[in-house]
Order: sequence, then C-alpha cells, then structure tokens
Amino acid sequence: MHTHLVAALDIGGTKIAGALVDRDGSLLVRARRSTPAQEDAESVMGAVGDVLAELTSSPLWAGVRALGIGSAGPVDASAGTVSPVNVPGWRGFPLVERVGAVTGGVPVVLVGDGVAMTAAEHWLGAARGYDNALCLVVSTGVGGGLVLGGKLHRGPTGNAGHIGHISVDLDGDPCPCGARGCVERLASGPNIARRALENGWRPGPDGDTTAAAVAAAARAGDPVATASYERAAQALAAGIAATATLVEIDIAVIGGGVAGAGDILLAPLRRSLRTYATLSFVQRLTVAPALMGTDAGLVGAAAAAAAAVPAGGANGARTVAAQ
Ligand SMILES: [Zn+2]
Repeated sequence: MHTHLVAALDIGGTKIAGALVDRDGSLLVRARRSTPAQEDAESVMGAVGDVLAELTSSPLWAGVRALGIGSAGPVDASAGTVSPVNVPGWRGFPLVERVGAVTGGVPVVLVGDGVAMTAAEHWLGAARGYDNALCLVVSTGVGGGLVLGGKLHRGPTGNAGHIGHISVDLDGDPCPCGARGCVERLASGPNIARRALENGWRPGPDGDTTAAAVAAAARAGDPVATASYERAAQALAAGIAATATLVEIDIAVIGGGVAGAGDILLAPLRRSLRTYATLSFVQRLTVAPALMGTDAGLVGAAAAAAAAVPAGGANGARTVAAQ
C-alpha cells in the first residue's frame, strides 16, 4: 500500500471536521461532529475521538502517512497543546499526544487555523504561485498566516502571521488579548456590527444585527453601515501594509465570513492600502478574496502535514508548504 494520503482535522468552536486527503487536495472520506464547546475536556476529546474513529475505520486509512491538525488558537505547536478561546475546557490540552495515542504511530502535525487556511490558499487557492503571501481570516476574530520564500512560515509555536492582534491604534480600545487598538478590535465581524449600532445604525424588521446585515445595509447606501466597513478596512489595510513592509509580501488574501461582504470591504481596503503601503517595494501588493471556502481548514491541515512529513520516492506528494 502506498502511503499517499494524509489525514486532516479541523477543530473549531462549533464543529470538529476530519478527512482523508489525497495528493491533489481531494477529500476522499469525511467525518464531522459538533463541538461540545462548553463541556469538559474529555467530552470535547470524545467528539474528536468519534471523528478519528470514522477515519481510521476506512480501508483507505492504511495509506495515511501523516495527520495534520488545524485548530482554533492559541495553539502551541512546540508543546503539542491547544487552548482555543471558544473551548474553555481545553487549556494547554495535549491534543497532539491524545490524537497520536489513537492513530498508532502516524506522525501528527499541529498548526493554528489561520496557518492552516494559509496553507490551503497557497496550495490550491488565491495564493497559489505566490512565494510571499499573507492570508487573513476575518470572521468572529481576525487570524492569519504567512508564506515566505515559497514556504509556509509557522513560527516556533505555530501562530506566526496572527495579524488580528497587532495594534494599529496605539491608544485605542482595550482588546480581550490585553493590548489596545488591535486589528481584530476594529475589523472583526462583531466589532463591525457593534460600531454600526453605536453610531446609530438600526437593523431591519428581522432584527439581524450581524456584520452581514451591516454589509447589506451598506450595499443599500446606509452611510453609518458603510463607515463601519470603511473603518474595518482601514485597520486591515494598516496591518497588511505593516506586514508587507516588514517581510515583503506580494499578495494579501482575505477570507472568513466577513470577506463575504465583497467589495463593501475590499474596495475601501484597497483604497486604504494606498495610504499606508507607500514605499516602492510594497506598492504593487495585490489584494484578493480567498478561494477555498469551508474546506480550507481541512485542506490546509492536510497541506501542513504533507509538507512536514514528505513522502519518499516517486510516490511523494508535491511539497506545497514545507517548513
Ligand atoms: Zn488583541
């Protein structure tokens, strides 16, 4: 049996997804459970175990050479532990060891979900063909990851590229992380909605106060809704420009639910970028929407695992994101 497959786990606050993935990025076997996010550590691990049981019972499991985990953060890839903000029962939880105990000798690779999404976009999505890229996930929070010199740049603990918690407003509002004026505090979906409400925007008859509802209002011409997206775009642009200036990136890929606002977010983002990305070597920076959709976490976890545990010989997976 050729070991040409990798297994992938995508662990978030609402769902735990798993898949067996081939070298083209196709998901051959899928499994999924809801995350019992408010229960104790063993209950959450039980859901992971159920997903793994479905994967390991597949006849294809014999072809798996590595397992990649993309988890909501923070993660500590060097210790093999995770502490997802939205799963309070897991603090310093030894996920790599626990998964390894189930999968019997298959190497386990852990990355944060922003890094996983970046690996997916670099392998098969909007960052394909770019050697230097920043990928952002703009959603309930703001995460991200980096490709530098053609390789996924994870950082020692697997959190590199976490653009949501760099400050772009020195004396700005306190952020739950402990700092002030973070990109996330200005640009996440809940903060876009909060700012619109604070400035007088009111939802329609359905009472929907999500960022998506604010985007719909902006599209219909509401100036307060438009301004809230412009402020988010400004924060993202400042963070992207800072990143580009530090490490020279060619493209910024914008994904996550808030990116579903399309040009309501991307048009002011591109405008703001001209204000902040001014030096000659960052002026040609491209901004593109993400392409990988809801499977990005699984595909990215698979890419990270495949890169970390290259297959030998002619059956080797192509190296897409080697560390
Ligand atoms: Zn922060």
